[in-house]
Amino acid sequence: MIKRFYPSNLPEFPYEPKSDRFAIRRISDNVGEGVIALTSFEPGDIAFAFTGFLTNYITQFTLKFADGLHIHDPYFMGKILHCCEPNTICDMSRRVFITVKPIAAGGIVTMDYAQTEDVLFKPFFCSCGALHCRGYVTGKLETVTTEADLLIKS
Ligand SMILES: [Zn+2]
Repeated sequence: MIKRFYPSNLPEFPYEPKSDRFAIRRISDNVGEGVIALTSFEPGDIAFAFTGFLTNYITQFTLKFADGLHIHDPYFMGKILHCCEPNTICDMSRRVFITVKPIAAGGIVTMDYAQTEDVLFKPFFCSCGALHCRGYVTGKLETVTTEADLLIKS
């Protein structure tokens, strides 16, 4: 049986992610849970659409929708992990994630948090393994803190 990630009181919508195409699994102690593709996706594919609660503050599960407005989705989108060279990008105007690099079945679905976020809920040391990993990931308007700067240089 195909299961939804979103609660049953939310109406179903086109490109809604469901258990036939995705799973939420614990990836590691370091990064916690992430979204795994159960089927392959090609560049240009809509991987999934998302929805959530509008807030005027940032949480661990928000992406920026507009200035001062964020979408909180603790069910699915908020579980997408960061990669400095991600396989999807977020099209916030349509609330969809578009595939930009092939994703094999079993692959982790990733985005670059700095694509949508001016400020992160919690900047972090990245272990995405990408060739051009930024090392310390912040929102696009944040500067690296002194403490992090020192740790990177040491
Ligand atoms: Zn990285």
